[in-house]
Amino acid sequence: MKKHNFYAGPSILSQYTIKNTADAVLNFAGTGLSILEVSHRGKEFQAVMDEAQALVKELLNVPEGYHVLFLGGGASLQFAMVPFNLLKTKAAYLDTGTWASNAIKEARLFGEVEVLASSKDANYTFYPTDYTVPADVDYFHITTNNTIYGTELREDPDVPVPMVADMSSDIFSRPIDVSKYDIIYAGAQKNLAPAGVTLVIVKESALGHVERAIPTMLDYRTHIKKGSMFNTPPVLPVYSALMTLRYYKEMGGVEALQKLDEEKAAMLYKAIDDSKMFEGTVTDKAHRSIMNVTFVMTEPYRELEKDFVDFCSARGIVGIKGHRSVGGFRASLYNALPVESVKALIDAMNEFEALHVK
Ligand SMILES: *Cc1c(COP(=O)(O)O)cnc(C)c1O
Repeated sequence: MKKHNFYAGPSILSQYTIKNTADAVLNFAGTGLSILEVSHRGKEFQAVMDEAQALVKELLNVPEGYHVLFLGGGASLQFAMVPFNLLKTKAAYLDTGTWASNAIKEARLFGEVEVLASSKDANYTFYPTDYTVPADVDYFHITTNNTIYGTELREDPDVPVPMVADMSSDIFSRPIDVSKYDIIYAGAQKNLAPAGVTLVIVKESALGHVERAIPTMLDYRTHIKKGSMFNTPPVLPVYSALMTLRYYKEMGGVEALQKLDEEKAAMLYKAIDDSKMFEGTVTDKAHRSIMNVTFVMTEPYRELEKDFVDFCSARGIVGIKGHRSVGGFRASLYNALPVESVKALIDAMNEFEALHVK
């Protein structure tokens, strides 16, 4: 049976990425050896790293003065690495979900953190807009897409200080004005590659201004100096990332991906809004995520939620159970998810509703 993969992360990758990764595990770049068993210092892997960095710059239109790194430790390590390297006295954060609040917790280890706005009291069902960024903070941190709660900020706000963004779950879904950011980071396992690598885009001139000592591995300058090869990089995930980046370029770049992503999300949100059985959890439609669509059953049908998950899995639709802190359903519509899968989910919703709503 064909599977429709709506997992939130690790999540669907393009068939191009998976097939080429599998091929490289057997025979990498004509070496007659697996990519798992060759030196990262060899010319074949150096070419992979170079092309992956160049493609990130090309696809996201990264200006001069920025470096592209592929680091270990996940987005969660960036929660600490960012303030370690950038926080002199005070930083401003938005509390828009679990990941944002984890980032805030780490930043507090390094200095004063001003939380400018939070939607926590409303279980993060909206993306706060009512705040002012003070001009005296070292940086302003946002989480552009809240993977668990299904809210998203699809723009690069104008603020008086440099921004830092966790774009783990929506990078490569729209053009970004990179020049507004000191650092952009993204765990790869949502829109890029298997787990194990984190994409970091960092502005070199933002570094070197804190007094504290920084351990070598946690200092971005170490990785910049060594072209993201100070130590052994996550070789296989970087290779998969390169395959995804080539695929994105072939698809027409982030503008083309944005159009597809917006179409997929619009179809699913329309089905939810037209239904008597389902309703979205995000209160302000302008901030509904196009990557993670969160919804629940309306009150009269709520006890059927588990049945619907089973109904879907019998149709090959997997990964739609909502995160435990929201309940209901979450359909993740990452770049690699084909529109046919969205249609399959909508058909399942309509059929299930016809069975139960008289
Ligand atoms: C998944 C996710 C994370 C956590 O990433 P790890 O790589 O597991 O540390 C952080 N932020 C956002 C927005 C995420 O979606």
